[in-house]
Amino acid sequence: MLNNLDLLSVGIAVAGTIILGFVAYFNDKKNLSNKSFFWFSIVTAIWGALNYFSYKISSDYLTLWSLRFVLFFAVWQAFFLFNFFYVFPLRIIKYPFWFNWILRPAVFFVSIFVLSPFVFSGFSRINGNIATPETEAGIILFGVSSVSLVVFGILVFLRKMKHENNSNKNLFQVILFGTVFMFTSIIILNLVLPVGFKNVSFIPLGALFVFPFVLFTSYAILRHKLFNIKVAASALLVFVLSVVTFIEVIFSSDISVLILRISVFVLVLCFGILLIKSVLKEVRQREKIEKQQKELEVINLKLASANDRLKELDKQKTEFVSFASHQLRSPLTAIKGYASLILEGDYGAITDDLKHAAQIIFDSTNTLVTVVADYLNVSSIELGQMKYDMKNIDLKDLVASAVEELKKNAESKQIKLSFNCDKAKFYPVKADKEKLKQVLMNIIDNSIKYTPKGEVRVSLTENNDKVLFSVVDTGIGISKEVIPKLFSKFTRAKNANEANIRGTGLGLFIAKEIITAHHGRIWVESGGEGMGSQFYVELSEASS
Ligand code: ADP
Repeated sequence: MLNNLDLLSVGIAVAGTIILGFVAYFNDKKNLSNKSFFWFSIVTAIWGALNYFSYKISSDYLTLWSLRFVLFFAVWQAFFLFNFFYVFPLRIIKYPFWFNWILRPAVFFVSIFVLSPFVFSGFSRINGNIATPETEAGIILFGVSSVSLVVFGILVFLRKMKHENNSNKNLFQVILFGTVFMFTSIIILNLVLPVGFKNVSFIPLGALFVFPFVLFTSYAILRHKLFNIKVAASALLVFVLSVVTFIEVIFSSDISVLILRISVFVLVLCFGILLIKSVLKEVRQREKIEKQQKELEVINLKLASANDRLKELDKQKTEFVSFASHQLRSPLTAIKGYASLILEGDYGAITDDLKHAAQIIFDSTNTLVTVVADYLNVSSIELGQMKYDMKNIDLKDLVASAVEELKKNAESKQIKLSFNCDKAKFYPVKADKEKLKQVLMNIIDNSIKYTPKGEVRVSLTENNDKVLFSVVDTGIGISKEVIPKLFSKFTRAKNANEANIRGTGLGLFIAKEIITAHHGRIWVESGGEGMGSQFYVELSEASS
């Protein structure tokens, strides 16, 4: 039974060592600290298992070789311990020349050397069959190299620990504690007791003494990253399952049952490690998603503040345009006024050349006045400062006066401009007279502008409590692609530019805003370029 307890404790330590080694490795495969710890754990697990069996098997041949291989793995164990101390807590380091080209080959050489008869030439059995190796002079090389590796490793580790800040220092202390425990127990139980007191009963338990080091070190390695209940739970589950299946192994009655149970144990361990790997992967992915979400939130915040800033700048721009347009208004009125006075002969008779020049000044200033008025309107719309003075009016009168004012323009282009409505009828609408007239004028004026020859028919009809104003022309028409964009700011069709008619592309944008404020509808229809256009404005009839 005691025998079985030995085996159980060694089995638990070996399974735990393997599981923790894999957890550290899967947690961050590229991390050299984790990697060297992983190799240390694997070598330790093999060493622990071999150590146990070398004292338990009866075949002399196997016993001798397993004793030798215990040393082989002990050399690598010391090397990986040194390696771990050398790297920890860094993630990546560049190994120096001596490490790669002197230390590694030397360790390789020693590990092969310890398999030779110059170290263990044979063994004898004492104390109820426990194998004790007959050592040769070669053991000194093994002793010196493995002790040096461990001692230098610890020294390097202590030196690093001195320069660490407080939170890392704790991690170093945890590892150091495990190391001290491991070595005092190995030295007392595997060296002092066997040599001094001829008691070798603890030697097979080597794996058990290393396990606290593995446990503490994996805690230190994983503390920051792996504080995740899911990973801890799956590691524990795998551990418990391996222990249970290992207990089954111990109590196997015959060889076939033993083989079956060992296979189950190995399978549980392998699948358990795969399970931990996938849980770790999932946890890491979740962490990644959370990190990305946080980054997105930060970006969103930045975007929101950039957006606010843009809005502010846009407002400043609109205010500037409004200010500049206001400033332009009075000088323009003056220029226009004086040009008109010159034209009308208020400054005496003028030559035809001068008259022509004054006419150009007058026309250009007129265009500029419209442009400035458009910009002012757009600024007011954007700043939300457009004010409406709504009153009940007869739309017929408003359309009639707009048509009247534009008659001259049409005549100068020899275009027939007509207005059709029921003269006896009222067309009552609730509207801001000036602003609505501006819209009607813009639409009629556009039709005159964009009609090289033919006619422009303005009409007013009433149907189902709605009043419909329409302007039909025989002009350049509008293509299907442009129609949806026509009421947006700065839209000018290609054919309008080709016709070389000056314009801002703001008139219809303003018209749409004003009609929307009147709860009405404005739209356009056209058969396409060269097919003429039909503009419509529909308003609700006012109850008078
Ligand atoms: P502007 O006439 O100053 O360019 P508008 O906003 O009044 O600005 O008109 C926008 C565009 O709509 C014009 O540039 C032109 O391409 C098109 N458009 C407007 N009315 C007509 C029309 N009656 N016939 C053909 N195209 C038109």
